[in-house]
Amino acid sequence: MTRLILHGEDALERCLSAVARDAATTALFCDIDGTISPIVADPYAAVVPDEFRAALVKLAPRLGLLAFVTGRDVCQGRDLVRVPGATYVGTHGLETLTPNGAAHADPAAEPYVDDVQAMVCRAEALDAKRLGLVLENKRTVLAVHYRLAPDEQATRTVLESEIVTPARELGLLISTGHFLVEVRPPVVATKGTATLALLAGGDYRTALFLGDDLTDCTGFAALREWAKAGDALASPAGGAPAAPARLSCAIAAITDETPQKVVDESDVRVAATPGVYAVLTRLVAAIR
Ligand SMILES: [Mg+2]
Repeated sequence: MTRLILHGEDALERCLSAVARDAATTALFCDIDGTISPIVADPYAAVVPDEFRAALVKLAPRLGLLAFVTGRDVCQGRDLVRVPGATYVGTHGLETLTPNGAAHADPAAEPYVDDVQAMVCRAEALDAKRLGLVLENKRTVLAVHYRLAPDEQATRTVLESEIVTPARELGLLISTGHFLVEVRPPVVATKGTATLALLAGGDYRTALFLGDDLTDCTGFAALREWAKAGDALASPAGGAPAAPARLSCAIAAITDETPQKVVDESDVRVAATPGVYAVLTRLVAAIR
């Protein structure tokens, strides 16, 4: 049988024990694509398998917080996942939907919408078929996916001259992921900033972050920062407290394509995506 938990079984066990003791003070952050939804060439064809959704639906009412944190447009993320009672964070932290449906968008991004849309027009003028491009217009963000590129290097060269350079000239930011270039407003918003903001909104003791790509490393780092701040609160005079006040667990969903940074910065590594399902079912068992 294929191994599903590749590394960090002890760290995962510690975390599951903490969740079993007190699910109500547990926060679970979950990326979507490549984590609970197998990677497909066309992001519009992605699905969350029913068994993943069923486990997440069981977790939502029991955990203190269940948040899906994605680069997708927030409503598209919600419509893909469809787990009631969850919080959804979209466009890497620029938009949030609370469990009661209230929407919050970062007002700092608004002045850049026209420039981002100008880049959308530029991208639409490219030969998407020849270059293997799939565009996602998320209003405040343009995502250009090129997993379908027949010649990856040739596509990257075109994207560099036609998207990356002109976007930078407009003062926009570029972020890259797996077969992905994103044009973003110059606003500090990441999965990490969104994670820290959500953690600050409740009295959480245990936090897990499940992700598979470079942008998830900001979430991993946010968890570490939050746990360290907990130590400082528990031991104001300095030094390590007798027991950590907060427990964090960064879980990476691994394939042959996983960036090394994701591997290096995770506490637990699981096979994408069946290993993620294994973690979810163990969480469900822990809160019984
Ligand atoms: Mg992902």
